[in-house]
Amino acid sequence: MSKIGIPRTLAYFIYFPFWKTFFEALGQEVVVSPPTTREIMDIGVREAVNDACIPIKLYHGHVAYLADKVDYIFCPRLVSVRKHGDFGTETFCPKFLGLPDMVRLALNNLPEIIDERVDLKKGKDELLKVCARVGETLGQSGTEIKRAFKQAMKVDGRFKQLLYQNYTPVEAMAMIFDQQEHIPPPRQETDLKIAVVGYPYAIYDAYINAGILKLLQKEKVRVYTQDMLSDKTMNRQARTLPKSMFWYFSNRAVYGALHFMQEKGIDGIIHITAFACGPDSIVDRLLEIESRRRNHIPYLAIAVDEHTGEAGIRTRVEAFLDMLRFRRDKA
Ligand code: SF4
Repeated sequence: MSKIGIPRTLAYFIYFPFWKTFFEALGQEVVVSPPTTREIMDIGVREAVNDACIPIKLYHGHVAYLADKVDYIFCPRLVSVRKHGDFGTETFCPKFLGLPDMVRLALNNLPEIIDERVDLKKGKDELLKVCARVGETLGQSGTEIKRAFKQAMKVDGRFKQLLYQNYTPVEAMAMIFDQQEHIPPPRQETDLKIAVVGYPYAIYDAYINAGILKLLQKEKVRVYTQDMLSDKTMNRQARTLPKSMFWYFSNRAVYGALHFMQEKGIDGIIHITAFACGPDSIVDRLLEIESRRRNHIPYLAIAVDEHTGEAGIRTRVEAFLDMLRFRRDKA
């Protein structure tokens, strides 16, 4: 049995249930890095190239944490996960495409990196082919791989169902894998409804965003994110734009935000944006313009980086909530 290390950042928040199930069904042990800490961030900032965005720096920190604890680091080269139909070409941001190379160059003494290329727009059997290549690296037979793939697809389907029931990925994973500390409490009375959009690794990493989701929860805010929407719902928004953003996670943030801007009962939108992210400079401007054009919905952008302090975020979020309450009570 080998130990497979999975960094708890970037695509973790979307694909972990699938890959954990797949590896475990093959009899491998999955080791996940812990939630981001100051130490993990400091290592990432020190080891990654200077001009990388903060999520990429964090990824380096998580990989460094796992390096001496596992036999393999699972770091697939994510190119695409769907055909984007008439909406234009779509890939992951270039940093995702070069991630295995960046990590190899920046960090010493790494175990073997499983860096299979994932380009699912090539055809409907492509994910099974990726799994076959990953499984073969681990010495598994075709029958074992097919069985593990089936189980992983089943768990992934359950994960998506929970997301569509408005659970966050962290809550949905806790429910699937019985992680008591993250299982959501019964839903309480709601004062405001806010859509939080952005990259999953910015929204759900409580360290990098200074615990914004918890803060909203304490303020009796019901939070919705783009990950709670189906592709079909989001693609309706894709049709309202002259062209797509080209990058997968950016498209999801934009389509999700546009959906919530038109959704009755949503009081405001918060966009968590990553400092030094090229795509986000366009996403943020677009959302600002669209929030004015579509119903004048209140919009707050919060940029996170390695210097983000809890006090600064708290002040801005609390001021935003006060403004939303004032606006609602005046109406
Ligand atoms: S989309 Fe932006 S934040 Fe995400 S990896 Fe690319 S540059 Fe970094």
